[in-house]
Amino acid sequence: MRDWHAMDTAQVLEEWDVDATRGLGEAAAAARLKKYGINRPSVRQGRSPLVRFLSQIVQPLVLVLVGAGCVTAVLGEWVDTGVIFGVVLLNAAFGFIQEGKAEVALAALARAVSSEASVLRDGMRRRLDAAELVPGDIVLLSAGDKVPADLRLLGGRELRTAEAALTGESVPVDKRADPLPADTLLADRHNMAYAGTLAVAGQGTGVVVATGDNTEVGRISQLIAQRLDLTTPLTRKMGVFARYLLVAILMLAGLTFVVGVQRGESAFDMFMAAVALAVGAIPEGLPAAMTVTLATGVARMAKRRAIIRKLTAVEILGSTTVICSDKTGTLTENEMTVREIWAGKETFTVTGHGYGPAGRIEQGSLVVTPAGALRETLLAGVLCNDARLVHEGQHWTVAGDPTEGAILTLARKGKLDEATLRSVFPRLDELPFDSMRQYMATLHEIGGLPIVYAKGAAERLLPACWAMLDAQGNEIALDPGAIEAAANRMAREGLRVLALVRSEIALDQRLEHIRMEDGLMFLGLIGMIDPPRPRAMTSVRTCHAAGIRVKMITGDHPGTAIAIARQLGIASENASALTGRDLARLDEDALRKAVAEVDVFARVEPEQKLRLVQALQDGGEVVAMTGDGVNDAPALKQADIGIAMGAGGTEVAKEAAAMILTDDNFATIEAAVEEGRGIYDNIVKFITWTIPTNAGEGLVILAAILTGTTLPITPLQILWINMTTAILLGMMLAFEPAERGIMQRPPRSPAAPILDRVLVQRILLVSVLLLSGAFGLFELALQQGHSLAQARTVAVNVFVLVQTGYLFNCRSLTQPVWSVAPFSNPSIWIGSGAMVALQIAFTYVPAFNRIFHTAPIGFTAWLPIVAFAVACLAIIEAEKKWYAR
Ligand code: ATP
Repeated sequence: MRDWHAMDTAQVLEEWDVDATRGLGEAAAAARLKKYGINRPSVRQGRSPLVRFLSQIVQPLVLVLVGAGCVTAVLGEWVDTGVIFGVVLLNAAFGFIQEGKAEVALAALARAVSSEASVLRDGMRRRLDAAELVPGDIVLLSAGDKVPADLRLLGGRELRTAEAALTGESVPVDKRADPLPADTLLADRHNMAYAGTLAVAGQGTGVVVATGDNTEVGRISQLIAQRLDLTTPLTRKMGVFARYLLVAILMLAGLTFVVGVQRGESAFDMFMAAVALAVGAIPEGLPAAMTVTLATGVARMAKRRAIIRKLTAVEILGSTTVICSDKTGTLTENEMTVREIWAGKETFTVTGHGYGPAGRIEQGSLVVTPAGALRETLLAGVLCNDARLVHEGQHWTVAGDPTEGAILTLARKGKLDEATLRSVFPRLDELPFDSMRQYMATLHEIGGLPIVYAKGAAERLLPACWAMLDAQGNEIALDPGAIEAAANRMAREGLRVLALVRSEIALDQRLEHIRMEDGLMFLGLIGMIDPPRPRAMTSVRTCHAAGIRVKMITGDHPGTAIAIARQLGIASENASALTGRDLARLDEDALRKAVAEVDVFARVEPEQKLRLVQALQDGGEVVAMTGDGVNDAPALKQADIGIAMGAGGTEVAKEAAAMILTDDNFATIEAAVEEGRGIYDNIVKFITWTIPTNAGEGLVILAAILTGTTLPITPLQILWINMTTAILLGMMLAFEPAERGIMQRPPRSPAAPILDRVLVQRILLVSVLLLSGAFGLFELALQQGHSLAQARTVAVNVFVLVQTGYLFNCRSLTQPVWSVAPFSNPSIWIGSGAMVALQIAFTYVPAFNRIFHTAPIGFTAWLPIVAFAVACLAIIEAEKKWYAR
């Protein structure tokens, strides 16, 4: 490892054979990529597979099974022991594989949102996948970027990075380019930016000195695979439930033993009964089913363009009561077209669509050639601009900010070519746009004088203006009233309005924010449309029907915001917007009231979003909030679900978010909420389906002991039922699509218990049905002269067939079974078919008969079983209908 921080920048550049103003050539970069490999640290599993496997077994309920296995071993019941341990291992293997799959899938999703870097190659600024960086590349960092490799900084302006990921230090560090003593500690190397840290302010350039495993993070840890947290509020609740269940099971098993022995039964039999009870009452399949359901759901969301970064989000989505969304790009298309210009106190209209240069600037119906204030407005717009128009085939697109792209298109319609202007008046310095200051400024030399051009929010720049240009380009007195009236009129029409200004500074002055406080010359206003996304309109309506309020929080002008909010159905005709300035004046109480009533917040600074989220949460709301900038990160973290933009968002925002939208579209949030509700539903469906099996088995054993009859099912048979039905039947509920009408229900309260009263009653009902069916038909078979093995076979079949029918009941917990499209989930049919086939084998194949002590039964023995299963299906439907009433 070289001491790059101790060298001066020229030396580092020479060492890597690169020109800081041109970057590497493509050929050199390709050769280096071969030599140094791709820029991605190799991933190492955090915990060893053995530890992960064992952790599947060291769970309270599984340990009870292990205990039961030991008891049977002591009693010399080797087949039982074998099967019990077999089940423990099978179950652990299943959980291990499923968890592994879920972790891999989540990690792959996280990587799918690739992180990009701005790089100089062949003298051109380009956006590359960070994995393609090589040593010697010149990287341009700006606020919001994740540092893509280890960089020796060459220069910058107010660059600050957050290095917690590397050094644990939470306060961002100022960066400079000057060399440091060789023995400077890593955390104090102010002229280096390390991979994995985040640029939170300013800008900088640096040369890549290490990539992939050679970076500091790569070296220190070889990037221990981030262990994705598979716990959610629901799995935690289930964990608590499992502990209660454990105590209950142990007590009941103890009771069974004591009661039986007191009645004079043999201790051996009673041990076996206690084991049967314990084994039966444990829902072995539950943890794996939850993981599978969550993981399937996450994959389904990814297909609908929502990438989950924290599993908890899946669940919370279903409880979301408020969605706070940005306007530009999320609710609107982010496809800007300039429609109007106001310059020299005259209004001009602009024709044409999209970013193509076809179109004209007109006054009345006359085509105008820009001159005077109009020309200066366009010139400012072109020079104070980082975008580039790209012409591919018939298509014109923008590389960079769409707002700026639209201005370039406008200039071309006015016959001003940006490439020529930019080379004649090169940029000497710049203050990049940031959404807090709401403007951008650049410095150029024009006619030997340093001239600053700036564009930004009118309310921000106007107070610093002292004069304006008239139509001929002469200085006249500022008319703030006329400017404001024009800006407000455009905003009311839903146009996004930018003001353009210029000023002169002295030769020896730097371009600084302080220079933008006064002495500006007002040039003109540009108004552009950014149409609402058509699908956002329907999504807003769907959200309202689902009891979710949609709030727009934007940096844009209140007039524009309200106009767009009305078009989208977020705000009513007479609603008004609260501005960031209004918010700043409200105390906590007033704010809480205001956020409950108002749906549109305009000219909001990113910092204020945090207060808004907190106020909504104080009012009891579950808040999903979108964001894309660096300053949005705290609000994204505070929100119950932070949502970042995959395409247009910064890396800082993505790191802070629980979910990422790959298409930046509001409609995707609505889709994710729907999926989130569906996934939660499916977990509840599984629980409602599975618990009666366990409760029913427990009750059968208990009843047998209390009445002093032979056990209708043995521990082994219970294990058979639990394992096969959980995997072949219950697990299939994970693939149920979201129910129709799922978005017409109010959001689920996070405080609500997993099972409501109705479901608890249903679970009791089915448990009792299973008890009576299995016990009754077992006794009937004995009375009809069947052998004990045959009678037990009947009892097992009752359990399996009733559970199969009940599975169809559970496809909807509230709607009749026939209202669910029969083939919307083919897995249900495949699973049930396999279950029936297996059950036939269980009944008739000699090997199964030997292991499980079963025996073939005749056709007449099947009739009551099938009849009872069908009756149960009908009874449960009747019960559903009764509650629906
Ligand atoms: P949202 O917060 O909904 O995404 P937004 O994009 O309008 O909305 P910001 O990006 O914070 O929010 O922009 C706020 C204001 O800053 C805009 O209304 C505009 O006046 C000004 N602005 C936006 N982009 C630029 C830019 N590239 N250069 C100069 N000023 C800009």
